[in-house]
Amino acid sequence: MLIDNHNRKINYLRLAVTDRCNLRCNYCMPSEGINFAKNDKLFTIDELCSLSEIMVEQGIDKIRITGGEPFVRKDLMILLRKLAQLDGLKDISITTNATLIGPYIQELKSLGIKNINVSLDAIDKETFERITRRNQYDTVYGNLIKLVTEGFNVRINFIALENQNTQDILPILEVMKHYPVSVRFLEEMPFNGGSKSFNTITWDYKKILSHILEQYPEVTKLESPKTSTSINYKIKGHQGTFGLIPSFTRTFCGSCNRLRISATGDVITCLYGKPRMNLRDVMRGENREENIKKHIQKAIGNRAKTGFEEQEKYDGIFENSMTSIGG
Ligand code: SAM
Ligand code: SF4
Repeated sequence: MLIDNHNRKINYLRLAVTDRCNLRCNYCMPSEGINFAKNDKLFTIDELCSLSEIMVEQGIDKIRITGGEPFVRKDLMILLRKLAQLDGLKDISITTNATLIGPYIQELKSLGIKNINVSLDAIDKETFERITRRNQYDTVYGNLIKLVTEGFNVRINFIALENQNTQDILPILEVMKHYPVSVRFLEEMPFNGGSKSFNTITWDYKKILSHILEQYPEVTKLESPKTSTSINYKIKGHQGTFGLIPSFTRTFCGSCNRLRISATGDVITCLYGKPRMNLRDVMRGENREENIKKHIQKAIGNRAKTGFEEQEKYDGIFENSMTSIGG
């Protein structure tokens, strides 16, 4: 079992399988992209399979596949098939922009993968395409509805961006009221790879909530697991729910149960910190299983208690893009 230096059980791995993406969301990276890692710096699919197996043996029981866009990797299904066979792995989840998932939906279903987070930062097509800098709205929306109707547990990630999409907060709830989905509103974080300057946010979770309450006063707060990052609500008469994720305000750090490994092997114990170490060469060297375990134990034995504590070490400077961290 993995226990950190604050006595928190770490059982949730967010595994980025690539830093590449076919969209260019302006809160995530610049229009020209970032300096994507060379191919030999990315884990191969076999390495990702072995790494996942080692992590599950260590006590990880939930893996979220993220990126970049996971489905730009043509060999992604090999990893997902492997994960579906791992005893001890109770939850396989995917975070995707839903542009490329269409052809894989049936196989995902047959593998028993149920939890899919879809990033959709606008319900208006023009707004969506302005933010993502690509013309993919119809495909994304079509795949989202297909996932819902096929019975997946779908959560929409919507980042509240000042002067860009906050006019869509109420309309997206109105459209989604007919579907059993959770619409989660996230605060923007400072990881845009230099796409735009970032000082702070105006749309924090409290402001998003009061905006929603003006339109829908009859909401019920739902019980959520202790390790949940979202505060969840149900609007009377809506099939689904909505959630608020204070990703910049960071109210949830105290119960953090997660570890991130980037597509190039960086071990990230907190979003607001620098990578603790890199596992790629360890993975490619002698005694890899033993050495990976040793490195992971060391990384989680030295975690900051909160994102604020971690951030203090770095003078508030963030030049990373979320596409290389995995969100
Ligand atoms: N490409 C996939 C997607 O967009 O869903 C997976 C990778 S993406 C980096 C993972 C999550 O990070 C997405 O939900 C995205 O909206 C979120 N994200 C990216 N940049 C962010 C930022 N600057 N602040 C907050 N969330 C961000
Ligand atoms: Fe790509 Fe996801 Fe970043 Fe958008 S948020 S550019 S879809 S990695």
